[in-house]
Amino acid sequence: MANISEAEIRKIVENIVRGMDAPKSGYTSTSFEGRRLIGIYSDMNEAIDAAEQGYKAVRAMTVEQREKIITEIRKLTREEAHIMAKMGVEETGMGRVEHKRLKHILVADKTPGTEDIVAEAKTGDSGLTLTEMAPFGVVGAITPSTNPSETVICNSIGMIAAGNGVVFNPHPGAICTSNYAVDLVNRASAAAGGPKVLVCSMDKPTLDSASVMQSHPKIRLLVCTGGPGVVKAVLSSGKKAIGAGAGNPPVIVDDTADIQKAGKDIIDGCTFDNNLPCIAEKEVFAFRNIADELIRVMQKNGAYLITKAQADKLATIVLEEKTNKAGKKVKSVSRKCVGRDAKVILKMIGVEVGDDVRCIICETDFNHDFVQEELMMPILPIVRVDNIEEAIDLAVKAEHGNRHTAHMHSKNIDHLSAFASAVETTIFVKNAPSYAGIGFGGEGHTTFTIAGPTGEGITSARSFTRKRRCVMADSFRII
Ligand code: NAD
Repeated sequence: MANISEAEIRKIVENIVRGMDAPKSGYTSTSFEGRRLIGIYSDMNEAIDAAEQGYKAVRAMTVEQREKIITEIRKLTREEAHIMAKMGVEETGMGRVEHKRLKHILVADKTPGTEDIVAEAKTGDSGLTLTEMAPFGVVGAITPSTNPSETVICNSIGMIAAGNGVVFNPHPGAICTSNYAVDLVNRASAAAGGPKVLVCSMDKPTLDSASVMQSHPKIRLLVCTGGPGVVKAVLSSGKKAIGAGAGNPPVIVDDTADIQKAGKDIIDGCTFDNNLPCIAEKEVFAFRNIADELIRVMQKNGAYLITKAQADKLATIVLEEKTNKAGKKVKSVSRKCVGRDAKVILKMIGVEVGDDVRCIICETDFNHDFVQEELMMPILPIVRVDNIEEAIDLAVKAEHGNRHTAHMHSKNIDHLSAFASAVETTIFVKNAPSYAGIGFGGEGHTTFTIAGPTGEGITSARSFTRKRRCVMADSFRII
């Protein structure tokens, strides 16, 4: 028998324990294993009133006390990451448990806390002027189904660090997972000596409850993470709003790139949580002279190449034609396919593969739906291009002006600079998987609310503050 090291045994035991205590059901939007979740309301007005009490409690705290609550949130998030990961996949049917677990650990480790809040001082002949980052008050946050508990916890850490109270109107399709995270934040607060109810949510969030939130006088800031519809709704609310909207991140691979690394990085990024992260690679523009090699490397790394006819057939399944409010026919992604395993999607066109296949790749032209639509599933179209000018032109068009995220694999500094400048995205990742852009294998803090439309970028505590100035004229200098 082969020798098993102590570390390996520990890993096996950890995995068994994880599997045993992770949920299979036994939860609702208001309870987990018979225990009532804290901070969940049936009426948005009541939820806002409770969040206001939370805000008052945070305002009365020292920064050190706030940081203690955040430390406890980080601890519980690490300890319960596997529960939320499993629940998220079970409830939404989307994503991968292990990747979701890693996303929670990332949030716990790399979401900035109170250290992100810094005051500025300006001194001169006329005295001292101090600018401080103050809370808004009660923040109304709308969260998506794709990173449900990750977004609730990441938003909560940043918003509490900034001294705010928070009320969430989460995506109805991920309400149990989102409310588990709300409860976790409240448990952390109580354990660290804070209020029992610090952040709040709804048992049955609807567009109506979102609308009550958006127009409620006690809500001073709206933070919305989701698709174009909801971002537009909060931006027309008449309130200060932070909008983190849709993306369709293109990748360019030129003929100076390390193709072995590029092929692996792209598949790693594209398949992370089955392509649910809004930053994940969605379409590739590859130089014609390296495209064959790139495809081969992708195949070696878990990609399954389908034909053009299969791609066209798949497009009719993963995209549904709907008529919008204006009576126009629009394509929308089938919820039965978003975030599903490549194996499950391939079965829909009669192709049976094993678990080693994690991505579906195909060659298409630029106008193909797979290039134009934000699919959020492990399907990656590859378009051959002749030169950098064509690559940049098409990639910028495919990004649709979202100014969200773009990627490039190249060693040519001029190419890298030209694309970065032309595409104007909030995140631009060079020679790495997409997730390096949110601090996973790349420098910098993380967020699950990337605010391109309103410009806050990779949001953190300071994004949820308002600047206030205090002036002491003609004195208080020490020189
Ligand atoms: P979605 O747009 O379907 O839903 C987001 C939230 O908005 C949900 O809570 C939903 O109930 C609510 N909502 C929808 N329309 C609304 C309206 N008119 N008024 C008020 N609330 C409304 O999002 P989803 O499918 O869960 O997430 C995927 C989308 O979100 C993708 O487009 C993705 O790119 C984007 N996203 C962006 C970021 C980012 O940081 N920029 C992060 C995650 C997801």
